[in-house]
Amino acid sequence: MGKKKRSKIPQRRHDLAVSQGFRCCYCGEKFTKAGTPGAATLEHRNPKMHGGTNARENLAAACQKCNQDRGRRMQMAKQRKEKAKGAALLTSIQPQTAE
Ligand SMILES: [Zn+2]
Repeated sequence: MGKKKRSKIPQRRHDLAVSQGFRCCYCGEKFTKAGTPGAATLEHRNPKMHGGTNARENLAAACQKCNQDRGRRMQMAKQRKEKAKGAALLTSIQPQTAE
């Protein structure tokens, strides 16, 4: 019986993890078992929404924690930009409260 064919992504992720010494490209922690926060995930250095590609140079292995963190931070940066607009408006009309 032949080997089961797996999708290319995990293989690529595995290759990347190996080439990084099984360490996260962000925090440098060793990868842990799949399904745990320290598990290896495929990371796009330049996100697809910013024109990033699936080229090897644009890919890195990051732990799940950092990957999620990064996604959250990008989301927050976006929200902060929108909030800053509103805050600028607010501070211009808010009276100074001196204690
Ligand atoms: Zn990490």
